[in-house]
Amino acid sequence: MACIFCEIIAGRVPGKIVYTSPDVTAFRDINPQAPTHVLIIPNRHIASALEIGASDAVLLGRLFEVANELARKEGIAEEGYRIVINVGPNGGQTVGHLHLHLLGGRRMTWPPG
Ligand code: 5GP
Ligand code: ZN
Repeated sequence: MACIFCEIIAGRVPGKIVYTSPDVTAFRDINPQAPTHVLIIPNRHIASALEIGASDAVLLGRLFEVANELARKEGIAEEGYRIVINVGPNGGQTVGHLHLHLLGGRRMTWPPG
């Protein structure tokens, strides 16, 4: 089944890409929920956080490393921001390719909706 995020990585679907590398890609969310809303994803198709195991430790570190780099580049690192991973239907996951949401530029509320 075609995965929209795999298509964006492959360049077959346009995306506002802000970071590329052999293992991780980041692009702006098409429906931003904050002034900064970037999605950070592994280039390898992983359906959700539920599939992550110890063998993915390096990749997970890379996802956070890229999130940190982009938070600094977007100018939200000092004031703070939120990293979100939605998992499954109750978690609000709508795209079946693991992604970190990097959200910033406004005050976040808690608890999340
Ligand atoms: P989820 O709900 O799975 O945690 O997050 C999926 C996110 O992907 C949503 O915030 C949604 O706006 C975004 N999204 C869905 N389709 C596309 C697309 O084709 N391009 C981009 N840039 N973002 C998308
Ligand atoms: Zn995919």
